[in-house]
Amino acid sequence: MRILVVEDEVELADAVQRGLQREGYAVDVAYGGDEGLDKISYTSYDLICLDLNLPGTDGREIARQVRDGLGFGDEPPRILMLTARDSLDDRVAGLDDGADDYLVKPFQFAELAARVRALLRRDAGRSGAILTVGGLELDAARHRATRHGRPLDLTAKEFALLRYLMLHSGQVLAAERLLEHVWDEHADPFTNTVRVTVSNLRRKLGSAQPIETVVGSGYRLGEAG
Ligand code: CA
Repeated sequence: MRILVVEDEVELADAVQRGLQREGYAVDVAYGGDEGLDKISYTSYDLICLDLNLPGTDGREIARQVRDGLGFGDEPPRILMLTARDSLDDRVAGLDDGADDYLVKPFQFAELAARVRALLRRDAGRSGAILTVGGLELDAARHRATRHGRPLDLTAKEFALLRYLMLHSGQVLAAERLLEHVWDEHADPFTNTVRVTVSNLRRKLGSAQPIETVVGSGYRLGEAG
């Protein structure tokens, strides 16, 4: 899952980025509102951690533009508003502007991580904390994945790829879409990094692994297997 952090407090932005990367997300950062809008307009993010008070375009304006369809991609990004303010008016206004949830600063990283997981699950129309597809089970909070009860020893990128495939099981996902949602802005689009990671993941899933190649279109995680 690809996340954008828009936050002008550099230390906080970098800490949130590192924390979310450890959780297995691909994370980009924008240190101002205009840079944030720019990134949103050319990348299909799954979620935006959006500071309310920003230099340039502020968080409420960005939320409004996203709600009005800024950016491209398969699904609009979820918005988690970060705010130093805790007045009811600000929270209500932020939610009215299109934020899906909000978090009042200062916050513990564990709470931000839990809200991010909840919003991304909501996006996929699932409510449980543990994803299950066929014989696969993935617990994002504990970074654990199993197949038929057997633990899988996955790298962070393989884990992130498997999670994205499970959240979209049954759908054909183009390599470009996987690159956009599982890798961050430093990924080189001209390498075969998606193919290599899919191949490594398949090997670790073992016999009768459930990731199909759909020739000319992409990959699909089947319900069987
Ligand atoms: Ca700020």
